[in-house]
Amino acid sequence: MASMIHRLQRIVQEVNRAPDIDAALVLITESLTRDLTTDACTIFLAREDDPEVMLLQACNGLNPDIVGRVERRLGEGLIGTIAARAEALNLVDAPGHKKFLLVPDSGEVDYPIFLGVPIIAHRDVLGVIAVQRAENAFNEDEEAYLTTLAAQLATSIERAESQGRFSTPQKTHMVKGVAGAPGMAIGQAIVLNRGVNLESVPDKKTDDIEAELTSFREAVRKVCDELVGQAEKMRDSLPEEECALFLAYAQMLSGGSLIDDTEKGINQGNWAPSSWRDTVEQHAHVFSQMEDRYLAERANDIRDLGLRVLRKLMLEQSPLLDFPERTILVGDDVTATDLADVPADCLSGIISAHGSSASHVAILAHALGIPAVMGVPNLPVKQLDGVPLVLDGYNGSAFINPNQKLLDEYSQYLAEEEAIEQDLLELKGKPAITTDRRPIKLMVNSGLMSDYTPSLRSGAEGVGLYRTEIPFQIRDRFPSEEEQFLIYRSVLETFEGMPVVLRTLDVGGDKPLSYFPIHEANPFLGWRGVRITLDHPEIFITQVRAMIRANQGINNLEILLPMISGKAELVDSLFLINRVRDEIQEESGERVWLPKIGAMIEVPSAVYQIEDICSMVDFVSIGTNDLTQYLLAVDRNNENVAELFSSLHPAVLKAMQQIVTGAARSKTPVSVCGELAGDPLGVMALLGMGIDTLSMSVGSLLRAKKVIMSFSYAELTELLQQALTLSDSFMIRELYASKLDERGLGGLIRAGK
Ligand code: PEP
Ligand code: MG
Repeated sequence: MASMIHRLQRIVQEVNRAPDIDAALVLITESLTRDLTTDACTIFLAREDDPEVMLLQACNGLNPDIVGRVERRLGEGLIGTIAARAEALNLVDAPGHKKFLLVPDSGEVDYPIFLGVPIIAHRDVLGVIAVQRAENAFNEDEEAYLTTLAAQLATSIERAESQGRFSTPQKTHMVKGVAGAPGMAIGQAIVLNRGVNLESVPDKKTDDIEAELTSFREAVRKVCDELVGQAEKMRDSLPEEECALFLAYAQMLSGGSLIDDTEKGINQGNWAPSSWRDTVEQHAHVFSQMEDRYLAERANDIRDLGLRVLRKLMLEQSPLLDFPERTILVGDDVTATDLADVPADCLSGIISAHGSSASHVAILAHALGIPAVMGVPNLPVKQLDGVPLVLDGYNGSAFINPNQKLLDEYSQYLAEEEAIEQDLLELKGKPAITTDRRPIKLMVNSGLMSDYTPSLRSGAEGVGLYRTEIPFQIRDRFPSEEEQFLIYRSVLETFEGMPVVLRTLDVGGDKPLSYFPIHEANPFLGWRGVRITLDHPEIFITQVRAMIRANQGINNLEILLPMISGKAELVDSLFLINRVRDEIQEESGERVWLPKIGAMIEVPSAVYQIEDICSMVDFVSIGTNDLTQYLLAVDRNNENVAELFSSLHPAVLKAMQQIVTGAARSKTPVSVCGELAGDPLGVMALLGMGIDTLSMSVGSLLRAKKVIMSFSYAELTELLQQALTLSDSFMIRELYASKLDERGLGGLIRAGK
């Protein structure tokens, strides 16, 4: 068993490192012929222009001339049958099967024993892998092995295919992810290179070969010095042969092919990091192919060394100062803090291989009015630096190397979007009121000082959610009470006369603090939000002190507690908040008002305890992002399940209705501050529930107002009843979208359509 896992891992790793799809397929056929002791191995992949046709892309053990010449439609021959049924076929007499179609001149007549399995990624059949031999039927273990391998390789093949297609010069290539933040952008890709691993180093060309050579040599010299120093230091505590390893590493860097090959790559015009990456990969590959286990393991040593030099190199590289005017930030996993690296006036869009619309980077992008496409599994990140891109944050797609037709089409959309924005500007001073005169309070979600002016200008009636974690995340230690005081004072002052809801620290989950690392298997089900701050009352108390002190003389503060899952957390939080108030009152000798205190309803257990919770607080605010994540058991950051993440799911709507009904018994005000509150379709659903306070990214505010002013409360109530009879989010979305379209407002969710 162990050896099977070992073999599987080795093939997958090799395929992931293969320079292109053809090399990857050859590797698979060779490895399989060897590992399963078969006589022949073939791989068919669905054609790009017609996915119903499987084309032979690689073979081993048969006549190589047939590659690229044999095609099977779905249902045709054994290969087409496997693809059509998405099921394996294990035969002892392939020619005897009614679907068998001989490939003439292939040599396969000699190998009647046949096993074929489909390659499936994200429900799509990408192709078929088949192995054949002259004698000995394939047993269950072998079938299980091939099935496991095909499942593991599917994503690698998908990615390699995508990269291969993309690398055809200037060819337009579409990639699909999920809608992260609305809007569209035409711009130039800039790949984030944090240099944490070799795989993520992007390809780049350089004009300054000398500078690249110097920084490479400098990095190598520093690593060499470190290694020699480490060997010295360890001499007393490590056996001699372990110390020798450090010296052997240093030796490898003092000349020879690792250095020569990299310099050759640089001299060909590549920047040092990608040239070094390629050299390291080639050398590691040679070792990993060796049958001797000890030598094969040396591949890891080379990569370890590769990483050390890479880190130094990345430090040497000066940070990019000249961002193109329309930068589209690209990365495997773009994070909220990455946005800070790009000057705000250059940032036009974001595209990330991981994440979803509920990832915090997407929420931040939304707040900044920047379109984002998230969760693009086959994004060819490494090859994108400097490449033209078109981003569609409404439907979650992007075009690499867009052709003129697409550029024209999207320029037109952008112009229409601009026109919609201009129209919306007229709504700024107008009240958000339904056609049957029900007033709706619109507030903004904030957390960045840069939000304040646009928020005030957009006519917001206060801050419905201030995420205090952002000032915590951009520092390298907890901010002091005084630092926090200044931040909170500035937002309370800016919105004087209007409520400002400051939420206590909600770190954990996907919002890490570099200086307070938490390692958990399930961070979203772990130590997060109020759970952390109650376990660390010193952090909570400092924060609440800063908030209450900042509120002195302004009196517009409301405090919101995140991740409340039951009464006990509220009891403890209220106790501490009251104590802080008493302390400040005593210290200052002035009367200190207790601010209104609210609970976020975002954990399912809170939905079922809504009446108890309401009896203890002044208001509740529904966090639809986490409520959706926890109710549907869909990780808000996981692109594999991003399609399932929908706050318009009937279960989420029903839970929200239950919150509204429960809170109404004690007349506790309910607001919504998750992303649904800023989605035009979400606004329709929430109003229909009777919710009259919505807090959203400032960029969504006027769109939401337009929706509110176009419908009556009565018709939205009726529409909600209709929506609740539907069985899935897709149908609910369609229902609301068609009503929006009928009113001529389709452009609010998709410019130009
Ligand atoms: C939510 O969960 O809906 C919410 C508003 O909070 P956050 O997105 O910061 O978790
Ligand atoms: Mg939340």
